Amino acid sequence: MAELPEIELFRQKLQKAAMHRRVGFLHLRNAKGETVPSGSGIADDAVRGREITDIYRYGAQIFWELDHREILAIQMGGELAMELERGPASKSGSQEPRAGLEIQVNAHLRLHMHGTQLGSRLRLLDENSDVDFLTRLGPDPLMVPETGLSSLREALSRRRSALRNILLDDSFVPGVGAVWADEILFQARLRPDRTATSLDGEGRERFLAQIPAVLSRALRSQAKIPLLPKTFLTRHREDGHCPACGGALEHLAVGGKTAVFCPSCQL
Ligand SMILES: [Zn+2]
Repeated sequence: MAELPEIELFRQKLQKAAMHRRVGFLHLRNAKGETVPSGSGIADDAVRGREITDIYRYGAQIFWELDHREILAIQMGGELAMELERGPASKSGSQEPRAGLEIQVNAHLRLHMHGTQLGSRLRLLDENSDVDFLTRLGPDPLMVPETGLSSLREALSRRRSALRNILLDDSFVPGVGAVWADEILFQARLRPDRTATSLDGEGRERFLAQIPAVLSRALRSQAKIPLLPKTFLTRHREDGHCPACGGALEHLAVGGKTAVFCPSCQL
């Protein structure tokens, strides 16, 4: 499961490794290891040999700028495992065939992705492309400390649903998934099924402030559970005890998805 802090850490790793190198190939493979069309209409030769001139991110999208012109956008959120493999490529036949997307950057660097809807995660953008999918996204929560909470405050004022559903909606904040949504609500001491309309002014501010606070803390902790503060719920998803009161954590279905929360500390 890839959420915003993990995706940003991956982007940083990718930037260090791939900047100013050239794309080798882009292959989508089925379970037999056969190359199949990408599904997004990107021909292999559209990216082959192009120099990676920038790598940046917005929400769960990572953008590879190619030759300062076109942009290869990859949606990294949701059910996706990604790994960066360095070193010479293993000789053909020595590797188990597996389904996935592989982007070879040069002979010594390959990006592997495994997960759902791999083909439709790719887009090659130029100045004529339809970028509605980007303009529909809410403010990037890792950039919120710079831009202030005003845009989120305004967006929240138009929402009526449960807070956890609002957090999982990319048009409110992109890239927040189950784990960090639960943490934001725990730190804000608000139940996952509290509705936006039930909050007073102070509750709304507490909720909004925790969005960038939790995500940037997760990023600084390299999204590694042992490095998170002891006061974080995320450290206790396995043992099921609230780090604040010691009580048992509970599960709650909100909008068809299951949230973890403390019924005593979150009201
Ligand atoms: Zn508690």
